[in-house]
Amino acid sequence: MKIAVFCGSSRGNDESFAEAARTFGSHIASQGIDLVFGGGKVGLMGVVADAVLAGGREVYGVIPESLRDRELAHPGLTRLDVVGSMHQRKALMADMADAFVALPGGPGTMDEIFEAWTWAQLGYHHKPCALLNVNGYYNELIAFFRTMAGAGFLKAEHADMVIVEERAEALLAALRSYRPPARKWDPVSPAPGT
Ligand code: AMP
Repeated sequence: MKIAVFCGSSRGNDESFAEAARTFGSHIASQGIDLVFGGGKVGLMGVVADAVLAGGREVYGVIPESLRDRELAHPGLTRLDVVGSMHQRKALMADMADAFVALPGGPGTMDEIFEAWTWAQLGYHHKPCALLNVNGYYNELIAFFRTMAGAGFLKAEHADMVIVEERAEALLAALRSYRPPARKWDPVSPAPGT
């Protein structure tokens, strides 16, 4: 199994974020899982990659040329694929991974996990998407999912398909037991007798 992890290219201003990223990477490795990520050595990205490598598992980075050329690529990966654009990067990461997890991060992290979730609700893939809600970092975002659903822009079952856990073990267990819901535009089955 390979998990794509999206997370900050910064470390955040509280050391607990880096600790959670390290712990998550160690759990991935100890469960025999490999990592797919954005290939950077910076921020929480570098912390997760280092922890998975230290645990003896493979780490695949996918980085656009422009970021590699700014010397932001991690030098010690199992493999680094250099691609022409951010779009190519996301497509390759999506193909390689069996699941998508966002750790705390900024707009880049949001872009990546939202794209993975959007594709899942359209049925372009059937892989689980998850948020590791370190210290309640994603609480307001999760509340906004309910606002979207309440306003009629998101079906409750598609809101619920995003796994939210605070701890690495629970999140990895939820990824393994995930069952995808019906796709967004599938016809609703007729009620019995109609
Ligand atoms: P952000 O959350 O805005 O810090 O963006 C982090 C996400 O965007 C990561 O998951 C990466 O895939 C990508 N990204 C942003 N900055 C970099 C960088 N310097 N090197 C590699 N990937 C990056």
